[in-house]
Amino acid sequence: MSRFFNTRLAQLREYIPGEQPKIQDLIKLNTNESPFAPAPGVLAAVEEAAKKLQLYNDPTARNLNAAIAKVCGVKENQVITGNGSDEILAFAFQAFGECGLAFPDITYGFYPVWAALYGMDAKIIPLNDRYEIDVNDYSGNDRTVVIANPNAPTGKALPLSAIETLLRMNPDHIVIVDEAYVDFGAESAIRLLDQYENLLVVRTFSKSRQLAGARLGFAIGQPPLIDDLNRIRNSFHPYNVNTMTQAAGIAAVKDTAYFESCRKAVMENREWTTKELEKLGFSVLPSMANFVFAAAPGISGMEYQQALRKNNIIVRYFDTPRIKAFVRITIGSREQMEKLIEVTKEILK
Ligand SMILES: *Cc1c(COP(=O)(O)O)cnc(C)c1O
Repeated sequence: MSRFFNTRLAQLREYIPGEQPKIQDLIKLNTNESPFAPAPGVLAAVEEAAKKLQLYNDPTARNLNAAIAKVCGVKENQVITGNGSDEILAFAFQAFGECGLAFPDITYGFYPVWAALYGMDAKIIPLNDRYEIDVNDYSGNDRTVVIANPNAPTGKALPLSAIETLLRMNPDHIVIVDEAYVDFGAESAIRLLDQYENLLVVRTFSKSRQLAGARLGFAIGQPPLIDDLNRIRNSFHPYNVNTMTQAAGIAAVKDTAYFESCRKAVMENREWTTKELEKLGFSVLPSMANFVFAAAPGISGMEYQQALRKNNIIVRYFDTPRIKAFVRITIGSREQMEKLIEVTKEILK
Protein backbone atom coordinates (compact mmCIF):
# COMPACT_ATOMS: atom_id res chain seq x y z
CA MET A 1 0.00 0.00 0.00
CA SER A 2 1.38 3.40 -0.92
CA ARG A 3 1.26 6.28 1.52
CA PHE A 4 -1.25 7.96 -0.81
CA PHE A 5 -3.95 5.32 -0.41
CA ASN A 6 -7.29 6.30 1.08
CA THR A 7 -6.92 5.76 4.82
CA ARG A 8 -10.57 4.75 5.25
CA LEU A 9 -9.88 1.80 2.96
CA ALA A 10 -6.59 0.74 4.51
CA GLN A 11 -8.18 -2.38 6.02
CA LEU A 12 -10.19 -3.29 2.92
CA ARG A 13 -10.21 -7.01 2.20
CA GLU A 14 -10.54 -7.54 -1.51
CA TYR A 15 -12.75 -10.12 -3.14
CA ILE A 16 -10.64 -12.97 -4.46
CA PRO A 17 -12.15 -14.47 -7.62
CA GLY A 18 -11.79 -18.17 -8.38
CA GLU A 19 -8.71 -18.77 -10.48
CA GLN A 20 -8.73 -18.95 -14.27
CA PRO A 21 -5.61 -21.01 -14.98
CA LYS A 22 -4.56 -21.74 -18.53
CA ILE A 23 -3.65 -25.38 -18.17
CA GLN A 24 -4.24 -27.84 -20.99
CA ASP A 25 -7.02 -30.40 -20.51
CA LEU A 26 -7.98 -28.86 -17.20
CA ILE A 27 -11.45 -29.78 -15.96
CA LYS A 28 -12.56 -26.46 -14.66
CA LEU A 29 -15.32 -26.79 -12.08
CA ASN A 30 -14.42 -23.86 -9.82
CA THR A 31 -16.31 -20.73 -10.92
CA ASN A 32 -19.78 -21.91 -11.99
CA GLU A 33 -19.45 -21.04 -15.65
CA SER A 34 -21.41 -22.95 -18.24
CA PRO A 35 -19.58 -25.90 -19.82
CA PHE A 36 -21.29 -25.05 -23.12
CA ALA A 37 -20.36 -22.55 -25.85
CA PRO A 38 -22.33 -19.32 -26.30
CA ALA A 39 -25.60 -19.63 -28.27
CA PRO A 40 -24.94 -20.25 -31.99
CA GLY A 41 -25.97 -16.73 -33.05
CA VAL A 42 -23.73 -14.92 -30.60
CA LEU A 43 -20.46 -15.02 -32.53
CA ALA A 44 -21.92 -13.51 -35.73
CA ALA A 45 -23.76 -10.85 -33.72
CA VAL A 46 -20.55 -9.85 -31.96
CA GLU A 47 -18.63 -9.73 -35.23
CA GLU A 48 -21.26 -7.51 -36.82
CA ALA A 49 -21.31 -5.21 -33.77
CA ALA A 50 -17.50 -4.97 -33.77
CA LYS A 51 -17.66 -3.17 -37.12
CA LYS A 52 -18.93 -0.11 -35.23
CA LEU A 53 -16.31 -0.09 -32.50
CA GLN A 54 -15.10 3.39 -33.44
CA LEU A 55 -18.38 4.70 -32.05
CA TYR A 56 -19.53 4.76 -28.46
CA ASN A 57 -22.02 2.10 -27.52
CA ASP A 58 -25.64 2.95 -26.76
CA PRO A 59 -25.47 4.17 -23.14
CA THR A 60 -29.14 3.28 -22.62
CA ALA A 61 -28.62 -0.28 -23.97
CA ARG A 62 -32.14 0.09 -25.29
CA ASN A 63 -32.37 -2.95 -27.57
CA LEU A 64 -30.73 -5.21 -25.04
CA ASN A 65 -32.95 -4.03 -22.21
CA ALA A 66 -36.01 -4.48 -24.42
CA ALA A 67 -34.98 -8.06 -25.26
CA ILE A 68 -34.45 -8.86 -21.58
CA ALA A 69 -37.75 -7.22 -20.60
CA LYS A 70 -39.52 -9.40 -23.14
CA VAL A 71 -38.19 -12.74 -21.88
CA CYS A 72 -38.78 -11.72 -18.27
CA GLY A 73 -42.32 -10.49 -18.93
CA VAL A 74 -41.70 -6.96 -17.61
CA LYS A 75 -41.60 -3.46 -19.10
CA GLU A 76 -38.44 -1.90 -20.51
CA ASN A 77 -38.34 0.72 -17.77
CA GLN A 78 -38.09 -2.09 -15.23
CA VAL A 79 -34.68 -3.27 -16.52
CA ILE A 80 -31.14 -2.01 -16.04
CA THR A 81 -28.08 -3.81 -17.41
CA GLY A 82 -24.56 -3.77 -16.09
CA ASN A 83 -21.00 -4.98 -16.52
CA GLY A 84 -21.82 -8.29 -14.89
CA SER A 85 -24.31 -8.53 -12.07
CA ASP A 86 -21.39 -7.61 -9.82
CA GLU A 87 -21.62 -4.07 -11.12
CA ILE A 88 -25.39 -4.00 -10.70
CA LEU A 89 -25.05 -5.25 -7.12
CA ALA A 90 -22.43 -2.58 -6.42
CA PHE A 91 -24.85 0.07 -7.78
CA ALA A 92 -27.61 -1.34 -5.59
CA PHE A 93 -25.41 -1.21 -2.49
CA GLN A 94 -24.61 2.44 -3.23
CA ALA A 95 -28.21 3.32 -3.98
CA PHE A 96 -29.87 1.46 -1.11
CA GLY A 97 -27.24 0.62 1.49
CA GLU A 98 -27.20 3.82 3.53
CA CYS A 99 -29.27 2.19 6.28
CA GLY A 100 -26.84 -0.72 6.51
CA LEU A 101 -27.18 -4.22 5.14
CA ALA A 102 -28.17 -7.64 6.40
CA PHE A 103 -27.01 -10.85 4.71
CA PRO A 104 -26.10 -14.43 5.68
CA ASP A 105 -22.75 -15.56 7.08
CA ILE A 106 -22.40 -18.07 4.30
CA THR A 107 -23.24 -16.49 0.97
CA TYR A 108 -21.66 -14.70 -1.99
CA GLY A 109 -18.29 -13.42 -0.79
CA PHE A 110 -18.60 -10.07 -2.53
CA TYR A 111 -21.40 -8.71 -0.29
CA PRO A 112 -19.13 -7.93 2.70
CA VAL A 113 -16.52 -6.46 0.34
CA TRP A 114 -18.92 -3.91 -1.16
CA ALA A 115 -20.26 -3.06 2.29
CA ALA A 116 -16.68 -2.33 3.41
CA LEU A 117 -15.80 -0.46 0.20
CA TYR A 118 -18.73 1.89 0.63
CA GLY A 119 -18.33 2.15 4.40
CA MET A 120 -21.66 0.53 5.11
CA ASP A 121 -22.53 -1.34 8.24
CA ALA A 122 -23.25 -5.03 7.67
CA LYS A 123 -25.18 -7.31 9.97
CA ILE A 124 -24.15 -10.91 9.33
CA ILE A 125 -26.93 -13.38 10.04
CA PRO A 126 -25.93 -17.06 10.37
CA LEU A 127 -27.62 -19.70 8.26
CA ASN A 128 -29.43 -22.27 10.40
CA ASP A 129 -27.75 -25.61 11.11
CA ARG A 130 -29.16 -27.09 7.90
CA TYR A 131 -27.33 -24.31 6.01
CA GLU A 132 -30.61 -22.58 5.19
CA ILE A 133 -31.69 -18.95 5.36
CA ASP A 134 -34.38 -18.58 8.01
CA VAL A 135 -36.32 -15.52 6.87
CA ASN A 136 -37.58 -14.87 10.41
CA ASP A 137 -34.04 -13.80 11.29
CA TYR A 138 -34.47 -10.84 8.91
CA SER A 139 -37.41 -9.25 10.67
CA GLY A 140 -36.92 -5.87 12.34
CA ASN A 141 -33.31 -5.43 11.27
CA ASP A 142 -34.05 -2.03 9.80
CA ARG A 143 -31.59 -2.64 6.98
CA THR A 144 -31.42 -3.44 3.31
CA VAL A 145 -31.62 -7.22 2.99
CA VAL A 146 -29.41 -9.04 0.48
CA ILE A 147 -29.86 -12.71 -0.20
CA ALA A 148 -28.81 -14.99 -3.01
CA ASN A 149 -31.59 -17.36 -4.05
CA PRO A 150 -30.51 -20.09 -4.63
CA ASN A 151 -27.79 -19.30 -2.14
CA ALA A 152 -24.11 -19.76 -2.95
CA PRO A 153 -22.12 -21.81 -2.16
CA THR A 154 -24.81 -24.01 -0.57
CA GLY A 155 -27.08 -24.26 -3.62
CA LYS A 156 -30.14 -24.26 -1.37
CA ALA A 157 -33.18 -22.30 -2.54
CA LEU A 158 -36.02 -20.61 -0.69
CA PRO A 159 -39.57 -20.96 -2.00
CA LEU A 160 -41.34 -17.86 -3.28
CA SER A 161 -43.50 -17.83 -0.13
CA ALA A 162 -40.38 -17.22 1.99
CA ILE A 163 -39.26 -14.36 -0.27
CA GLU A 164 -42.71 -12.87 0.08
CA THR A 165 -42.47 -13.12 3.88
CA LEU A 166 -39.14 -11.32 3.69
CA LEU A 167 -40.67 -8.53 1.59
CA ARG A 168 -43.62 -8.15 3.99
CA MET A 169 -41.37 -8.10 7.05
CA ASN A 170 -39.27 -5.28 5.58
CA PRO A 171 -41.76 -2.93 3.90
CA ASP A 172 -39.56 0.12 4.44
CA HIS A 173 -36.37 -1.46 3.14
CA ILE A 174 -35.16 -2.84 -0.14
CA VAL A 175 -34.83 -6.60 -0.40
CA ILE A 176 -32.23 -7.52 -3.01
CA VAL A 177 -32.72 -11.04 -4.33
CA ASP A 178 -29.61 -12.15 -6.22
CA GLU A 179 -30.90 -14.75 -8.66
CA ALA A 180 -27.59 -15.66 -10.30
CA TYR A 181 -28.59 -19.35 -10.20
CA VAL A 182 -32.36 -19.19 -10.50
CA ASP A 183 -32.48 -20.74 -13.97
CA PHE A 184 -31.44 -24.14 -12.60
CA GLY A 185 -34.73 -25.01 -10.95
CA ALA A 186 -35.68 -22.41 -8.33
CA GLU A 187 -38.64 -20.00 -8.41
CA SER A 188 -37.96 -16.43 -9.50
CA ALA A 189 -39.24 -13.52 -7.44
CA ILE A 190 -40.00 -11.61 -10.66
CA ARG A 191 -43.62 -12.73 -10.20
CA LEU A 192 -43.84 -10.63 -7.04
CA LEU A 193 -42.61 -7.42 -8.65
CA ASP A 194 -45.98 -5.78 -9.21
CA GLN A 195 -46.94 -6.21 -5.57
CA TYR A 196 -43.71 -5.15 -3.87
CA GLU A 197 -42.09 -1.78 -4.49
CA ASN A 198 -39.19 -2.85 -2.23
CA LEU A 199 -38.12 -5.84 -4.35
CA LEU A 200 -35.03 -5.76 -6.55
CA VAL A 201 -34.20 -8.92 -8.51
CA VAL A 202 -30.63 -9.25 -9.82
CA ARG A 203 -29.69 -11.69 -12.58
CA THR A 204 -26.69 -12.58 -14.69
CA PHE A 205 -25.78 -13.97 -18.11
CA SER A 206 -22.69 -15.60 -16.59
CA LYS A 207 -24.11 -18.86 -15.24
CA SER A 208 -27.05 -19.96 -17.37
CA ARG A 209 -26.52 -17.98 -20.59
CA GLN A 210 -22.92 -18.84 -21.50
CA LEU A 211 -21.58 -15.28 -21.37
CA ALA A 212 -19.42 -15.03 -18.22
CA GLY A 213 -16.55 -13.44 -20.14
CA ALA A 214 -18.80 -10.88 -21.84
CA ARG A 215 -19.72 -9.43 -18.39
CA LEU A 216 -23.46 -8.94 -18.49
CA GLY A 217 -25.93 -8.75 -15.64
CA PHE A 218 -29.19 -6.98 -15.00
CA ALA A 219 -31.68 -5.97 -12.37
CA ILE A 220 -35.44 -5.88 -12.48
CA GLY A 221 -37.61 -3.80 -10.20
CA GLN A 222 -40.38 -1.24 -10.25
CA PRO A 223 -39.45 1.81 -12.38
CA PRO A 224 -38.49 4.13 -9.47
CA LEU A 225 -35.85 1.65 -8.27
CA ILE A 226 -34.47 1.28 -11.78
CA ASP A 227 -34.33 5.10 -12.06
CA ASP A 228 -32.33 5.20 -8.83
CA LEU A 229 -29.87 2.64 -10.16
CA ASN A 230 -29.53 4.52 -13.43
CA ARG A 231 -28.71 7.63 -11.47
CA ILE A 232 -25.79 5.81 -9.88
CA ARG A 233 -24.79 4.25 -13.20
CA ASN A 234 -24.84 7.58 -15.04
CA SER A 235 -22.78 9.15 -12.26
CA PHE A 236 -20.16 6.45 -12.59
CA HIS A 237 -20.01 5.01 -16.13
CA PRO A 238 -22.90 5.47 -18.58
CA TYR A 239 -21.21 3.24 -21.18
CA ASN A 240 -21.00 0.31 -18.80
CA VAL A 241 -22.19 -2.39 -21.23
CA ASN A 242 -19.99 -2.36 -24.30
CA THR A 243 -21.13 -2.70 -27.93
CA MET A 244 -20.13 -6.33 -28.31
CA THR A 245 -21.67 -7.40 -25.04
CA GLN A 246 -24.94 -5.70 -25.93
CA ALA A 247 -25.01 -7.62 -29.21
CA ALA A 248 -24.03 -10.90 -27.51
CA GLY A 249 -26.72 -10.43 -24.88
CA ILE A 250 -29.47 -9.82 -27.43
CA ALA A 251 -28.47 -12.90 -29.44
CA ALA A 252 -28.23 -15.06 -26.32
CA VAL A 253 -31.51 -13.99 -24.80
CA LYS A 254 -33.42 -14.52 -28.03
CA ASP A 255 -32.28 -18.13 -28.41
CA THR A 256 -34.72 -19.68 -25.95
CA ALA A 257 -34.29 -23.20 -27.33
CA TYR A 258 -30.53 -23.21 -26.76
CA PHE A 259 -30.93 -21.72 -23.29
CA GLU A 260 -33.47 -24.40 -22.38
CA SER A 261 -31.34 -27.26 -23.66
CA CYS A 262 -28.23 -26.04 -21.79
CA ARG A 263 -29.96 -25.55 -18.48
CA LYS A 264 -31.72 -28.91 -18.76
CA ALA A 265 -28.42 -30.65 -19.42
CA VAL A 266 -26.87 -28.97 -16.37
CA MET A 267 -29.79 -29.96 -14.14
CA GLU A 268 -29.63 -33.59 -15.35
CA ASN A 269 -25.88 -33.71 -14.79
CA ARG A 270 -26.39 -32.25 -11.34
CA GLU A 271 -28.82 -35.00 -10.37
CA TRP A 272 -26.48 -37.66 -11.77
CA THR A 273 -23.44 -36.21 -9.98
CA THR A 274 -25.32 -35.91 -6.69
CA LYS A 275 -26.35 -39.59 -6.82
CA GLU A 276 -22.86 -40.76 -7.72
CA LEU A 277 -21.25 -38.71 -4.94
CA GLU A 278 -23.78 -40.01 -2.45
CA LYS A 279 -23.00 -43.58 -3.48
CA LEU A 280 -19.40 -42.82 -2.54
CA GLY A 281 -20.44 -41.65 0.93
CA PHE A 282 -20.44 -37.90 0.29
CA SER A 283 -22.85 -35.61 2.03
CA VAL A 284 -24.34 -33.38 -0.68
CA LEU A 285 -26.65 -30.44 0.03
CA PRO A 286 -29.75 -30.50 -2.20
CA SER A 287 -28.86 -28.00 -4.92
CA MET A 288 -31.02 -25.83 -7.17
CA ALA A 289 -27.93 -24.29 -8.78
CA ASN A 290 -25.32 -25.27 -11.39
CA PHE A 291 -23.03 -26.56 -8.65
CA VAL A 292 -23.18 -28.92 -5.71
CA PHE A 293 -21.79 -28.30 -2.25
CA ALA A 294 -20.40 -31.62 -1.10
CA ALA A 295 -18.42 -33.02 1.83
CA ALA A 296 -16.16 -36.00 1.13
CA PRO A 297 -16.16 -38.96 3.54
CA GLY A 298 -13.08 -39.13 5.79
CA ILE A 299 -11.13 -36.21 4.28
CA SER A 300 -11.44 -32.46 4.66
CA GLY A 301 -12.63 -30.14 1.93
CA MET A 302 -9.12 -28.84 1.47
CA GLU A 303 -7.63 -32.34 1.14
CA TYR A 304 -10.24 -33.35 -1.42
CA GLN A 305 -9.70 -30.14 -3.40
CA GLN A 306 -5.94 -30.65 -3.44
CA ALA A 307 -6.25 -34.29 -4.48
CA LEU A 308 -8.55 -33.33 -7.36
CA ARG A 309 -6.12 -30.64 -8.42
CA LYS A 310 -3.30 -33.15 -8.76
CA ASN A 311 -5.59 -34.85 -11.26
CA ASN A 312 -6.21 -31.66 -13.24
CA ILE A 313 -9.67 -31.01 -11.83
CA ILE A 314 -10.26 -27.74 -10.03
CA VAL A 315 -13.14 -27.06 -7.66
CA ARG A 316 -13.67 -24.29 -5.09
CA TYR A 317 -12.81 -24.63 -1.43
CA PHE A 318 -13.67 -21.93 1.11
CA ASP A 319 -11.48 -21.56 4.13
CA THR A 320 -14.42 -20.52 6.32
CA PRO A 321 -15.05 -22.15 9.74
CA ARG A 322 -18.54 -23.58 9.21
CA ILE A 323 -17.89 -25.08 5.79
CA LYS A 324 -14.41 -26.57 5.92
CA ALA A 325 -15.73 -30.06 5.19
CA PHE A 326 -17.17 -28.97 1.84
CA VAL A 327 -16.07 -28.15 -1.67
CA ARG A 328 -18.21 -26.46 -4.28
CA ILE A 329 -18.24 -28.37 -7.54
CA THR A 330 -19.53 -26.65 -10.67
CA ILE A 331 -21.69 -28.91 -12.81
CA GLY A 332 -19.96 -29.38 -16.13
CA SER A 333 -20.65 -31.62 -19.11
CA ARG A 334 -21.53 -35.27 -18.52
CA GLU A 335 -18.06 -36.29 -19.64
CA GLN A 336 -16.43 -33.93 -17.13
CA MET A 337 -18.62 -35.19 -14.31
CA GLU A 338 -17.84 -38.81 -15.18
CA LYS A 339 -14.16 -37.98 -14.96
CA LEU A 340 -14.71 -36.27 -11.59
CA ILE A 341 -16.38 -39.40 -10.21
CA GLU A 342 -13.69 -41.68 -11.63
CA VAL A 343 -10.91 -39.59 -10.06
CA THR A 344 -12.83 -39.31 -6.79
CA LYS A 345 -13.06 -43.12 -6.54
CA GLU A 346 -9.25 -43.28 -6.85
CA ILE A 347 -8.79 -40.56 -4.22
CA LEU A 348 -11.01 -42.32 -1.70
CA LYS A 349 -9.31 -45.72 -2.16
C1 LIG B 1 -21.51 -15.41 -10.05
C2 LIG B 1 -22.32 -14.61 -9.09
C3 LIG B 1 -22.51 -13.25 -9.28
C4 LIG B 1 -21.73 -12.43 -10.28
O1 LIG B 1 -22.03 -12.68 -11.54
P1 LIG B 1 -21.48 -11.76 -12.72
O2 LIG B 1 -22.71 -11.43 -13.45
O3 LIG B 1 -20.55 -12.63 -13.48
O4 LIG B 1 -20.82 -10.54 -12.15
C5 LIG B 1 -23.36 -12.58 -8.41
N1 LIG B 1 -23.96 -13.22 -7.40
C6 LIG B 1 -23.79 -14.52 -7.18
C7 LIG B 1 -24.48 -15.17 -6.04
C8 LIG B 1 -22.94 -15.25 -8.02
O5 LIG B 1 -22.71 -16.53 -7.77
